[in-house]
Amino acid sequence: MAKGSIGVTTNNIFPVIKKFLYSDHEIFLRELVSNAVDATQKLKTLAAAGDFKGETDGLKVSVSINKEAGTLTVSDHGIGMTEEEVNKYINEIAFSGAEDFLNKYKDNASAIIGHFGLGFYSAFMVAKKVEIHTLSHEEGAKPVLWSCDGSPEYEMTEGDKTERGTDIVLYIDDDEKEFLEQSRISTLLNKYCKFLPVPVVFGKEQEWKDGKYVDTDKDKIINDVEPLWTRKPTDLKDEDYIKFYHAIQPAQDDPLFWIHLNVDYPFTLTGILYFPKIKNNLDIRKDRIQLYCNQVFVTDSVEGVVPEFMMLLQGVIDSPDIPLNVSRSYLQADRNVKKISSYITKKVASRLEEIAKTDAKAFEEKWNDIKIFIEYGMLSDEKFKEAAAKFALLQNTDGKYFKLDEYKDLIKGNQTDKDDNLIYLYATDKTAQYTYIKAAQDKGYDVLLMDGQLDIPFVGLLEQMNDKSRFVRVDSDVVDNLVRKEDAKDAELTTEEREIATTLFKSQIPAIEKSEFMVTYAAMAPDAQPVVITQSEYMRRMKDMAVFQPGMSFYGEFPDAYNFTLNTSHPLIKRVVDQAVAAVKDEIKPIDDELAATNAVIKAIRDLDKDNKGVPEDKKDDLKKNEDKAQELRNKKEEIVSNYASGQDTVKQLIDIALLGNGLLKGEALNEFLKRSVDLL
Ligand code: ADP
Repeated sequence: MAKGSIGVTTNNIFPVIKKFLYSDHEIFLRELVSNAVDATQKLKTLAAAGDFKGETDGLKVSVSINKEAGTLTVSDHGIGMTEEEVNKYINEIAFSGAEDFLNKYKDNASAIIGHFGLGFYSAFMVAKKVEIHTLSHEEGAKPVLWSCDGSPEYEMTEGDKTERGTDIVLYIDDDEKEFLEQSRISTLLNKYCKFLPVPVVFGKEQEWKDGKYVDTDKDKIINDVEPLWTRKPTDLKDEDYIKFYHAIQPAQDDPLFWIHLNVDYPFTLTGILYFPKIKNNLDIRKDRIQLYCNQVFVTDSVEGVVPEFMMLLQGVIDSPDIPLNVSRSYLQADRNVKKISSYITKKVASRLEEIAKTDAKAFEEKWNDIKIFIEYGMLSDEKFKEAAAKFALLQNTDGKYFKLDEYKDLIKGNQTDKDDNLIYLYATDKTAQYTYIKAAQDKGYDVLLMDGQLDIPFVGLLEQMNDKSRFVRVDSDVVDNLVRKEDAKDAELTTEEREIATTLFKSQIPAIEKSEFMVTYAAMAPDAQPVVITQSEYMRRMKDMAVFQPGMSFYGEFPDAYNFTLNTSHPLIKRVVDQAVAAVKDEIKPIDDELAATNAVIKAIRDLDKDNKGVPEDKKDDLKKNEDKAQELRNKKEEIVSNYASGQDTVKQLIDIALLGNGLLKGEALNEFLKRSVDLL
């Protein structure tokens, strides 16, 4: 019997393994089963090279539980180990057996599981004692029994194993008893081992007999040894991809399309990425892409390995070149991982470009389901943005699709303003903004539909990408001002008329929560709407963007500021303003005279303050008195106009129709409008 200390420098490595090495105790199973698979593959590699003459067909790995004995065993019929090898690979754990082996069989390296660092020792996370029963494939080899109870001392004797291969027996710790449960192990095998390249047996197939499930004598194989991504794309049909998709993502609609990844230089990577229907649901789940290393499941948290927007996709990525047992931050800094990430981005972009090119119609049909993915990609990834600019689509309010360049050409002639800016008009709600869309279309403009969840920031991105381009929502100004071809015409009203008209309308706009109105004037076409309510592009966009940028949330608190624009060329507006002026003129005249005199006094006092040192002390009272008086006079004027306005049904009607057109007329105000309309009839 040999006794010895395991060759590590730390006095006792086991507490370290238990506590820090892996936070997830369950992965011991992945490690042991992959070692067993590894040993089996190695034997096959030896056989292929003529270095092993025995039978290698039908080799399996098996996992079994013995509840009474409190053990879990992983067995294989792989290469096994000699005493010397146990010494080298297990006792001197600083060594990695895989490396030695790889050196010898470089050419067939991909058939061998990459090494997982301290794989075997992870058994001590769940076991109080571990035994290795092994018999090497080498001719004349003696069986070895190695055992260790969790201290750095191990025992090694000649064992009694008669069959080639290795059994790893774990005496499960009292506080890890869950790993003796059939269902728990079954779940874990399904998670980590489902696609291992060697059949893994766990228990027996069951059948329904006499009202219950009973074991048959057929071994239950828990894995698919040749998962789809390891096969040649040319051998696969659409149905195969769809079927595999449902196997890895149960309860989902069929995918829209997929990409079969396959690289061997400068790194090795295979996989399949699926585009699910995303619609308007920007729900980044971090567990939709599964990461494998030579068919061993590693993780479904791929942050850092693929760009964030890719996490909207689903599928599998398999690469032995991703360092596995390292922290996330290290992973993100790893050069290979960066290369992989940009490779995947490139590949996804070129596949989309190809689909857009070869089947433009299908691409358009699927656009709304993938738009959010592409916009998110373009917003967050410089490289993807460049690539996607070639195939990203814009949809107009008539449901037609255009590539970015195509659209530019379409609107160039008609929608270039006097300063040579290309004006893209857009709507965010086809129904609510119908009148504005219609007015713009009547003028020969094209209107885009930007109603997606990311369209607001996307509009900003498109402006950045295209010099001298602006996006303007159709309802952000009266139609004549959307694309300014010349300086705006002055409205045909005198200052006095304007003052009266402003109060005439403003005093009758019903109070609407969180909304403010400013009366403005524009000389539009006589047959255009008499009153147009618009919302400035800038303020509205600030508010919209506030949703995406936490630091800007205060914008969201602002009331909505609307322009209430009177079309001074419209006969109705002309009539009500003229009538109002005529009706209040005489009453206002003396107030105006008094106001003029008061203002003159105020000006005279203010003029004393030429050197900006302040109004002289003895004049301050006087100034205040006159200012108050002026305010009072202005209030009085407003009151006169408001009183007059309150009897003007036409004014009220004009206001309400405009509000109604914008979905702003509600509740009591709406009720009043209906009553008044009937009365007017
Ligand atoms: P790694 O697998 O990363 O090399 P492990 O600690 O899991 O690290 O295993 C160390 C070595 O022990 C392996 O490389 C292999 O040579 C040997 N080994 C482990 N398990 C088995 C097994 N079931 N059959 C044969 N050799 C094994």
